[in-house]
Amino acid sequence: MIENEDNFIANSLWSDTANQTPACPVLEAEIETDVAIIGAGFTGLSAALHLAKLGKKVVVLEAQTPGWGASGRNGGQVNPGLIENPNHAISKFGADMGQRMIALSGGAGKLVFDLIAQHDIQCDALPVGWLRAAHNAAGMQNLEQKATQWQAHGVPMQSLGAVEVAELLGTEAYVGGILDPRGGNIHPLNYALGLADAAIAAGAMICGQTRVEAVATGESLHTIISAHGRVRARKVLVCTNGYTGDLIPGLRQSVVPIRSIQVATAPLSDNLRASILPGLHAPSDTRRLLSYFRTDAAGRFIMGARGAYTSAATKARFAQARAITAELFPQLANVKWQYEWGGYIAATADHYPHLHDMGNGIAAGLGYNGRGVAMATAMGKVLGDWASGVPNSDLDFPVSNLRKIPFHGLHRLVVEATIARYKFMDRVGL
Ligand SMILES: Cc1cc2nc3c(=O)[nH]c(=O)nc-3n(C[C@H](O)[C@H](O)[C@H](O)COP(=O)(O)OP(=O)(O)OC[C@H]3O[C@@H](n4cnc5c(N)ncnc54)[C@H](O)[C@@H]3O)c2cc1C
Repeated sequence: MIENEDNFIANSLWSDTANQTPACPVLEAEIETDVAIIGAGFTGLSAALHLAKLGKKVVVLEAQTPGWGASGRNGGQVNPGLIENPNHAISKFGADMGQRMIALSGGAGKLVFDLIAQHDIQCDALPVGWLRAAHNAAGMQNLEQKATQWQAHGVPMQSLGAVEVAELLGTEAYVGGILDPRGGNIHPLNYALGLADAAIAAGAMICGQTRVEAVATGESLHTIISAHGRVRARKVLVCTNGYTGDLIPGLRQSVVPIRSIQVATAPLSDNLRASILPGLHAPSDTRRLLSYFRTDAAGRFIMGARGAYTSAATKARFAQARAITAELFPQLANVKWQYEWGGYIAATADHYPHLHDMGNGIAAGLGYNGRGVAMATAMGKVLGDWASGVPNSDLDFPVSNLRKIPFHGLHRLVVEATIARYKFMDRVGL
């Protein structure tokens, strides 16, 4: 069970099938460290592992347990690259930084699978590629454009026709697609728990059930304050993404938290299982409110969708995700559904993740726009580089100023209105 979250999204498939959570004692002392990390999701754990391997003294403070946030509840799709195409990154950030971002984000899937192999993380890792399916001709054109741009960076993206996609998916709902060889899928919570094990083995300390209540900034040492202890640290990394609170002025208002959801069936019969995703891909489609789906190691079918802020509306979205499944895969119309759950992602105004240096030894990495399995792992490494003294200009991701999103207080209304507009546009095929 995901504890201390709204009960109705607590019943996660991943927490029910998780490996053992490492012992993460509550912080009950005053300690000093090189780097304090707030949040034990992929961002914080990857940063901790990277820094511990560099020989730094690291303490991670997590309000619940490692992987409790979005990292332990997502679709487990390892999606390399950024949301925007490579050429967009180059025109927005310049040739040099654009190239570095392309290399970092493009290599983020490999980073995940390499870490899994290096640390022998048991998380059902399947580096089978990321299949992107086009729901109409315009969607296919977008995918072709993306593929051409990545091909120019040496990535052997494969273009797929309608028949090939139908064979790989088990549905004839799509007009074509592309296969990105750098992606794949994992059991996300077990990946997070494996990163936590690896970080601890490398010398990091992870404190669980330790909510940070305040960060008192000092000249050379900051004090991180929780209910029963304190950590004094030269550097502080804030890795709280969709669960960001008010520890750092303005950080919460720099992203919009959006609830994302998942529904999963009971294990499918062998017959049904053979008719869907024979290559064990985890595809996503080109709709604005995209459908992304996969099976797990036990043969459950899992569908992901956008959630909502209220319980009633989120429950309606669970039902919609099940209905979309039956539309795409009529053979699943009468299957038994076993799980429904969700969590918060963080969206940014420009669709890029953000790396902020507060200028006083505190930095934050967040805003993966629902695509953080690979990118949060890569951002953790960049944050680790920053905390170990790499100058901002040499980092593989641009450091940006903290900017509050205008009218942030109205974000729920804006998100719901946008979802309604996207739903309409998807329905009418725009
Ligand atoms: C339902 C769902 C499906 C998704 N599917 C995919 C997918 O298939 N592929 C993909 O790439 N991405 C997906 N994502 C997005 C991905 O999960 C996130 O981008 C990623 O996990 C973010 O990692 P993180 O470490 O930055 O944040 P999180 O994993 O959310 O971790 C933040 C942590 O900070 C802790 N925290 C917050 N405040 C404090 C405090 N004051 N003191 C101590 N600790 C604190 C929280 O307890 C939490 O554990 C999905 C997300 C959701 C919710």
